[in-house]
Amino acid sequence: MFIQQLRNFFLIVVIFASILLAYIWYDDYHFATNPLSKNIQNKIYQKHEELRILTYKHFNIKRVFPINISEKLDSNKFGMAVYSKDGQINIYLNKNRFKENENYMINDVIPHEYAHAIMFELGNFSKQNNGHPKKWQFICKKLNGLRCDRFVNNNDILIEKTNIFK
Ligand SMILES: [Zn+2]
Repeated sequence: MFIQQLRNFFLIVVIFASILLAYIWYDDYHFATNPLSKNIQNKIYQKHEELRILTYKHFNIKRVFPINISEKLDSNKFGMAVYSKDGQINIYLNKNRFKENENYMINDVIPHEYAHAIMFELGNFSKQNNGHPKKWQFICKKLNGLRCDRFVNNNDILIEKTNIFK
């Protein structure tokens, strides 16, 4: 009798664990195959608006730098700012990093990368501290950035400047 009960209990645990596992897999799969939720997209949009206004207010720059969500960034990168040969300036955010902490992505990473974009727009392509000189820090803080320390040791800028020093 006791053995029977134990077997039933064990069976229930196994079934429950299987359902949980299936749910986790589904959740991961669901995340990987879908765009970010409307809620997150909306927060990114709001942040972008705030940065656009601050950029004009503090630096008199009207240009808006596109923010792109990408799944192709290295897994260790949160975001990147890219200056292309044709003068385009783009910000890329690592979609997969939103899952861990969307607030960090929005309040820390976006202003950080936006400050790189403004540096490019100002023609400042300094490589100091991997693109994090004092000027960058000043801009980052003006954008209400929370991650404006100068000793970030990741390479999060890409400069394709074949055409700009002709
Ligand atoms: Zn950076």
